[in-house]
Amino acid sequence: MSGWLRNLILPERFGRVIIRRKTRQKIIALTFDDGPNPLTTPRIVELLHRYQARATFFVNGINARKYPELIKTTNLADNEIGNHTETHPYIIFKKQKEIIKQIISTDQIIRKTGYTGIIHFRAPYGLILPSLNRVLRKMQRHPVSWTFSLLDWQCPAPEVMFRRFIRKIIPGAIVLLHDEFTIEPSNRENTVKLVGMILEKYSTEGYQFVTISELMSIEE
Ligand SMILES: [Zn+2]
Repeated sequence: MSGWLRNLILPERFGRVIIRRKTRQKIIALTFDDGPNPLTTPRIVELLHRYQARATFFVNGINARKYPELIKTTNLADNEIGNHTETHPYIIFKKQKEIIKQIISTDQIIRKTGYTGIIHFRAPYGLILPSLNRVLRKMQRHPVSWTFSLLDWQCPAPEVMFRRFIRKIIPGAIVLLHDEFTIEPSNRENTVKLVGMILEKYSTEGYQFVTISELMSIEE
């Protein structure tokens, strides 16, 4: 579903979906899905740390189970950890019971690493269907979507994605990126380079990079 259509339909039809914080403050929430990944996650965490930036990592349970120490390091650097289900399924083909199981098992592995912060939820493929929304409502959670993506799963050159970022940046935006790609593992090198480019330019321009909880807590 294209960005404008998603933004138009989802909040009204299927309950509240977090897409952006309306603000004039220079604040951006970078989000990284599908990880952790030993080749990229530590480097992104290190880049964030260098620029005193924070972000939210929506992990898949299967990857978190393989690399729990990466969740610990990400957490210790003051980033937020989110739930992106266990195996990244197409929710449309799953029964409610199975969706709940996937969310709970991912919460459990995140908690097992010692993380005590809020665990936000992002649906695989950003698909918020009524069946999923019913589950989330029961769990008193709102799904976190995104304001714009840079299509980084297609692995374009970092400069191409950076130009997209410059075109789309807006205060209070949530940006979708991937430190892993669970469905079809791919080289995430360009995303790491892109993160460095974004942090370097926009930190000097006075932008603050925050977690989803921080973004939601700022005044509109
Ligand atoms: Zn994903």
